[in-house]
Amino acid sequence: TKFTDLGLSAPILKAVTAEGYETPTPIQAQAIPPVLTGRDLMGIAQTGTGKTAAFALPILNRLTEEGNHIKTPRGSCRVLILSPTRELASQIAESFRVYGKFLNLSVATVFGGVSAGPQAKALQRGVDIVVATPGRLIDHLQNRVVRLDQVEIFVLDEADQMLDMGFIQPIRRIVKTLPAKRQNLFFSATMPREIETLAGELLHDPAKVAV
Ligand code: AMP
Repeated sequence: TKFTDLGLSAPILKAVTAEGYETPTPIQAQAIPPVLTGRDLMGIAQTGTGKTAAFALPILNRLTEEGNHIKTPRGSCRVLILSPTRELASQIAESFRVYGKFLNLSVATVFGGVSAGPQAKALQRGVDIVVATPGRLIDHLQNRVVRLDQVEIFVLDEADQMLDMGFIQPIRRIVKTLPAKRQNLFFSATMPREIETLAGELLHDPAKVAV
């Protein structure tokens, strides 16, 4: 499989080439086509497999599709990615910036341990893609800094690590504020029972990819 076979748009392929990527990794080859068509996805994959590009590339493509070039309203976002740690959230956000460098989309990170003011300012302006850890996102939701009712795509990354860190209830709380009609992408390295249950609650007829 080549990147040019996957259905990605020219500005995204250009960014991929600029990064020096020659061929898609197995998770990219398997996940990108169904995500591009709007399907939910269950991905069983570890870090290092190219998982971030497997969701970032088709998400960037969907946000910039013909007829879907909307301006994100103030205090809203179009994509929400939940990650267990601030380090991972920062890496994911950086990946979106790199792969989206020829597109005109905004990316913001939301996590604890740093002051909430600048995050709140960015959220209030309206951000296309928000990468967040659950606790700080809930603070901003409670403070009415951001609403999630415009979210088109929801990504839960490293779900098993989320479970280990006690984030399952916060995640359920966040998910309750998302619109019912949305695309869901779910990633976990392992599938313990609680994660299986959560995936069952979140996903509708998902494409399944295990690498
Ligand atoms: P990830 O599993 O998302 O943490 O990605 C692991 C590393 O692989 C990152 O440094 C990416 O830049 C790199 N990478 C992702 N996709 C490809 C690809 N198709 N070809 C070469 N490197 C890649």
